[in-house]
Amino acid sequence: MKLKKQLGQHFLHDHDVLTRIVHAIAPAPGQRLLEIGPGDGAMSLPILDRAGQLTAVEIDRDLHEPLLARATRHGQLDLIRASVLEVDFTALAAQLGGSLRVVGNLPYYLSSPILFHCVEHLDAIADMHFMLQQEVVERIVATPGGKDYGRLSVMLQLVLHAEYLLHVPPSAFRPPPKVDSAVVRLTPRPPAERPTVDPVLLARVVRDAFGQRRKTLSNALGKLLDAEAIRAAGVDPRLRAEALPPAAFVALAAELAARA
Ligand code: SAM
Repeated sequence: MKLKKQLGQHFLHDHDVLTRIVHAIAPAPGQRLLEIGPGDGAMSLPILDRAGQLTAVEIDRDLHEPLLARATRHGQLDLIRASVLEVDFTALAAQLGGSLRVVGNLPYYLSSPILFHCVEHLDAIADMHFMLQQEVVERIVATPGGKDYGRLSVMLQLVLHAEYLLHVPPSAFRPPPKVDSAVVRLTPRPPAERPTVDPVLLARVVRDAFGQRRKTLSNALGKLLDAEAIRAAGVDPRLRAEALPPAAFVALAAELAARA
């Protein structure tokens, strides 16, 4: 079968990598497992072997029937024939009777939209295990001070815990992608630990602060908050965004809200 590059189709074929991923996920009967982009079932079949049931969402209609045929001997595969971005995870979790364990070797062209789609439905999710470009995983887990620390790190770490699990070389896929990959585990923080500040203001502060990351905060945030306002939020305006822990951006957004 000819794979579709535009749909990010790089199928996993390395048995050892697959075993390690499925071991990290630890699927079990009774869980509400949702796979994004099952492709030809490389991950779906071993998950079905362990859990007996899996819901999967795949956009490519050429893959649907072969996948369902392959799955029959492994368990109950419920296939959603759509783009994952059209799937309401909150409604799906309600329908399945509990929070979702979301997994997937994601199509890299759609990584960020999928991550933010999950964040929108965080209360419906127990945890996530995703294969992504290694560079994206490094940005997600980055801590303040490093070159990888930025918008993605702050916006995600404020609402979930991120854990780098394993590196996966291009040779593990057919065809091999041009980039290295990595698997990350994302676990939503309890609602009480997530910021309550206006998400639009938070996103604006983080965007402006990292938009010009070589500048000090008072220069980068000048349009939103002056040095005195930044200080009132408990933050040193002479610092750069890359030095601030995620919670400092929440304090800045709260200060912006108070002054609006
Ligand atoms: N899970 C398989 C594996 O590990 O070998 C395939 C992974 S491949 C990197 C990504 C899969 O996501 C492909 O099957 C592709 O067709 C599917 N896909 C691409 N865009 C999608 C979308 N918007 N919604 C759902 N699936 C999508």
